[in-house]
Amino acid sequence: MRRALFPGSFDPITNGHYDIIKRGVKLFDEVVVAIGINADKKYMFSLEERKAFIEKAFAHQPKVKVTTYQGLTVDYCKEINAKYILRGLRNPADFEFEKAIAHTNRKLSKIETVFLLTAAKTSYISSSIVRDVIRNNGDYTILVPDSVRVTNP
Ligand code: ADP
Repeated sequence: MRRALFPGSFDPITNGHYDIIKRGVKLFDEVVVAIGINADKKYMFSLEERKAFIEKAFAHQPKVKVTTYQGLTVDYCKEINAKYILRGLRNPADFEFEKAIAHTNRKLSKIETVFLLTAAKTSYISSSIVRDVIRNNGDYTILVPDSVRVTNP
C-alpha cells in the first residue's frame, strides 16, 4: 500500500490544498492529511473545525484520511507506515523552505518527499491570505472548498 502523508496546519484548508490532495490521490493508494499540532501557534480555527472542514471536503473520497499529530513528521510517518510525504510548491520561496525540510527528513529517515507544482489557478492562495480576507469580511468562499464556512465571524 502506497501511503502518503500530507502534513500542514490547514488553518483553513484552501482550494490550493484541495488541488494537491485530489492529485495526490491519483498517485497513492491513500493520502493521510495530517494536521500538525503546535502548542506555540495561534490558530484561527480550532483543531476540530480544521479537521471537520477537510473531512467534509473529501467525504466522497475513501482514499483520503484525516488525522492529527504531534512531534516530528517523520516519526508520525513511521507510526502510520507512510513512506512518502506529499507537499505542494507554489513559488521559489516554497522551494527553498521545503528543500531544507526534505533534506532533513531524508537525513532522519528513508521517507521520500514528493512535490507537486500547484495548479496555476490556485498558486496564489495561502491560508494566511484566506484568514486576512475572513478578518476583513471579504468573500473568502471563492478561495476555499464549500465545507469551509465561518459560523462566528
Ligand atoms: P504549513 O504550516 O506546513 O505551511 P500549510 O497548511 O500552509 O502548512 O501547507 C501545507 C502544504 O500545502 C504545504 O506543502 C504547502 O506548500 C501546500 N500549499 C499551501 N498552499 C497551497 C496552494 N495554494 N497550492 C498548493 N499547495 C499549497
